[in-house]
Amino acid sequence: MYRQLIERYKQKPLSENALKILKERYFFKKPSGEFVENSWFDVCRRVARVVAAAELINNPRLEKMTAAEKLDFVRQVESDFFDLLASRIFLPNSPTLFNAGIGADYELLYKPLEQMKLEDYQKILDSRNHLHMLSACFVVPVEDSIEGIFNAVKEFALITKAGGGIGSNFSALRPKGSFVAGTHGKASGPVSFMHVFNTAVSIVEQGYRRRGALMGILNIDHPDIMEFIDAKKGNDGERVLKFFNISVGIPMDRLEILRMYENDEEIELKHPKWHHPTKVKVREIFKKMAQNAWETGDPGMVFLGEMNKYYALYPYREIISTNPCGEIGLSAYEACNLGSIDLAKLCDDKGVFDWESFAKVIRTAVRFLDNVIDVNVFPIDKITQAVKESRRLGLGIMGFADMLYKMEIPYNSEQARSLAKNLMAFMALHAHEESSRLGQEKGNFPLFEYSRYPNGFIPFSMDVSDYDDEIREHFNTIAKKYKRNVAVLAIAPTGSISNIADTSSGLEPNFLLAYVRYVNKLSTNEREPLFYVNEVLAKKLPENELLRIRDRLIEEGSLRNIDIDERLKKIFVVAHDIDPLDHLLMQEAFQSYVDNNISKTINVPNSATVDDVLEIYVEALKHKIRGLTVYRDGSLQTQVLTSAKDL
Ligand code: UDP
Repeated sequence: MYRQLIERYKQKPLSENALKILKERYFFKKPSGEFVENSWFDVCRRVARVVAAAELINNPRLEKMTAAEKLDFVRQVESDFFDLLASRIFLPNSPTLFNAGIGADYELLYKPLEQMKLEDYQKILDSRNHLHMLSACFVVPVEDSIEGIFNAVKEFALITKAGGGIGSNFSALRPKGSFVAGTHGKASGPVSFMHVFNTAVSIVEQGYRRRGALMGILNIDHPDIMEFIDAKKGNDGERVLKFFNISVGIPMDRLEILRMYENDEEIELKHPKWHHPTKVKVREIFKKMAQNAWETGDPGMVFLGEMNKYYALYPYREIISTNPCGEIGLSAYEACNLGSIDLAKLCDDKGVFDWESFAKVIRTAVRFLDNVIDVNVFPIDKITQAVKESRRLGLGIMGFADMLYKMEIPYNSEQARSLAKNLMAFMALHAHEESSRLGQEKGNFPLFEYSRYPNGFIPFSMDVSDYDDEIREHFNTIAKKYKRNVAVLAIAPTGSISNIADTSSGLEPNFLLAYVRYVNKLSTNEREPLFYVNEVLAKKLPENELLRIRDRLIEEGSLRNIDIDERLKKIFVVAHDIDPLDHLLMQEAFQSYVDNNISKTINVPNSATVDDVLEIYVEALKHKIRGLTVYRDGSLQTQVLTSAKDL
């Protein structure tokens, strides 16, 4: 089954969209601009080869092998990785695709597998330079001193240049107006400094392939919280803190904030350098958040307390911030590399899901991502150290919405949520079993003894699935002794890689059934439109029917107002056909079996009121989720996705 599946998707041609994106941003080029890579398989060969080479440095079993056995082993690993990537059933995050192999001799990166020698793999490892950075997610701490702040600015610049997205919690900074002993002056506060970070990042593009992405967090009890919530007011997508998503941090139990909200209590705002007693009503804070999110989509909320509750290294280490899209919470200087499995490709056209192949894909993907850690080069030594100590991974999914279309299950249904729990629980089980197996084979993550795993800790909030007993059994037995990675799972937005895979992104419903996607041509700075009609819909609709509705579909993006079979309307829902509560419930369903976090947008229609948005903020506190992003259609002028009528 697995081999057939791989072959089937290896042979499937890439869409024009996918090829265009690859050509514009992913194919290796010489400094002269001449392409070194011309096909998707060239990218896969390079990436699989570099990541397989990690076995030479992270696998103690190889020390006991003869040179011929070693070579066979590494080639086999390369071949397994290549097949998986070539089929596009699993893809690592963009930085891995962009940067793996940078610095290496081209001849070594692309020559046929059977001609590879052990020295060739070693040469590839030795040629890695400071741009060989393969991770998408970083968190940098910002200390309360001018030296600390500008040191962090430098770190932001270095990470952005290498292609990573960065999050920081600015709560350590003293509030605006507090005393500065050195100058006898008044502090300008965290928000003013965020503009410095934004400007620095605006000048350094991410490896020249995409713009920087930042997350700025301020905890709900920081004295500058109201100013912070207003920090992106007036944002039109271009002018104000352009590179930042901002989020209010909830470091305490989310239920405590819910209780304060419901009882209309005040929260005490505090900072060690702040000596004026200040209180503000939690309802005031939430009202402001809702108002601004209604206008511009910012701020979101991040439940840091909830993240630490399920963090195996807490309290020895503490999660202080998330990366820009929220799927990974990290402690100071930690980084994480991501990868995503396309569920739609594991489901055939009749709607039958291939669980056996899914298990094999999960296990190979965990090995792949774990290897990425060892071939990664970071621009800052403290990051190298933190990453090696905890070996955090973020394996997730994409293609969920397209899979549901194939199965003819509406996204906004109990059936879809229950399937989501089973899929994620199955994935959690196999991914964690593989991480424990790798622990046995290659060694545990160095901080294992400081973690909660030896005590039988389960890093999931859990719900009800078919795999609960096996998951409990795993954490109560083998996981007490072996674990290669502090956390293994995360659901990323997959904004670019889902396009390369020709599938729907992350766990999100499709945004539109037919749309235009703008891609920035960095060479000329022009925005180029790419047209797209959902492939599953195109297959399920008779051709003449599709032709009949095509223009309306491109105009509207949804079947909602089109004269067509009601059953199809229920199945082929898009983001705006789905009630915000159904979005939240899907986020919670997946989150139950994910140790890191999930990137999810709660879409609300353009007609929603500020009170509607407020209701979602309060409702979110009641669910076992780790954060919230609300987006009202049309509230930001520069959307990445837009329907044709906005062209
Ligand atoms: N990211 C970034 N710049 C971007 C897009 C993404 O730095 O333009 C980072 C960010 O930390 C985000 C993570 O990459 O949370 C994953 O985003 P996504 O899954 O969309 O990336 P892809 O691998 O599809 O490019």
